[in-house]
Amino acid sequence: MKTLVGGKTNSTDYVKMYYKTKRKSKVGMIIEKSPQLEKEECNISDYLSFEKFNSVIQEFEKKLEKNFKNNMNLFNKNIKNLKINERKMNFFDLFSIARTGSVTRATYSYNQIEYIDSLDNDKNKFRSILMHELLHMSSQKDEQFFGFTQRIETTKGEKYIGIGLTEGYTEKLNQEYFSKIAGKNTYHEEIVLATGIERIIGKDKMADFYFDADLLNLIRYLNFYEKDLDEIADLIIGIDRLNTTEYTSAQYDKLRKQIADIYDKKLQLQKKLNLIDENQYQREKFLYIKQFIDLGVNYSENTRIIEYANFYLIEDENNKNIIYKEDELLKFKADENKVDKNIKNIKEEKASLLVDELESNKTDENQTKK
Ligand SMILES: [Zn+2]
Repeated sequence: MKTLVGGKTNSTDYVKMYYKTKRKSKVGMIIEKSPQLEKEECNISDYLSFEKFNSVIQEFEKKLEKNFKNNMNLFNKNIKNLKINERKMNFFDLFSIARTGSVTRATYSYNQIEYIDSLDNDKNKFRSILMHELLHMSSQKDEQFFGFTQRIETTKGEKYIGIGLTEGYTEKLNQEYFSKIAGKNTYHEEIVLATGIERIIGKDKMADFYFDADLLNLIRYLNFYEKDLDEIADLIIGIDRLNTTEYTSAQYDKLRKQIADIYDKKLQLQKKLNLIDENQYQREKFLYIKQFIDLGVNYSENTRIIEYANFYLIEDENNKNIIYKEDELLKFKADENKVDKNIKNIKEEKASLLVDELESNKTDENQTKK
């Protein structure tokens, strides 16, 4: 996804989400609105006129139906107007290859996939790229809302928020459900971060937000646990910046830490509400750390897991030397007073918010049958 053109927005839709961040450049806005989706049916065989791409599109549709059958409205709507165009390599592509060794082989902008014809020699890779673009198609409401991205108009022109998370989650879904080709180089950092956020939100709900093009509700969800909207804005914008020249590995470390902190707040709150006990808390935390290790990165700068024959040892700056064996906690040597103190620091209001959330999840469940 690169550029979107056209589409007017009404500036009164915008709400300032965060004003006084530590750095002035981070002042920004999101649209405080969730897109309204209508139920859309489609008999896909009526719209398959793509010759060599028909089989990929059919395969995509089958997998979408199998894994996300309640999230097909935008696919059903957009496939009816999809265009797939070849284009020739141009000067900018050659420049990109010369500079970075690679080139964006396909892009999706509203209802149109454009790909570079002369590069389609590796069929399997191209199939994977097409699946990625079809995921963009399946999560695009209009020019304003797509995936976790919002396009906003400012006095300085249009801006995008959430594009990094959109790319990371799109490629995560692609690798997990659709093309099943591990592409370690494609948005790897964004995938790691999107996976961390997905664990906080839960797979089903994260997919609902994505296919509903609903960044606002994703932010609201994170806001249950992270009360400081500046932090959430920092996080979303930080992921956007990963794929730019501003990228540094220190920023990447910081983003992983931010996500892990929100997850820890969630777990601590669940523990405080007796939804999980100490063992479950440690187990979840362990699995969360292990997830980062499995994705090929450290959980945070100061944490690592050492795998022994019979157990894992987590070395953490705060909770030193946690020993963990499969599903059973063998030994927990953390300073328990410190843990207790952390739990007491959670404000009572968070507890009531979670209750509200559990309640509203129930009603959401009923409403999403659209
Ligand atoms: Zn993309």
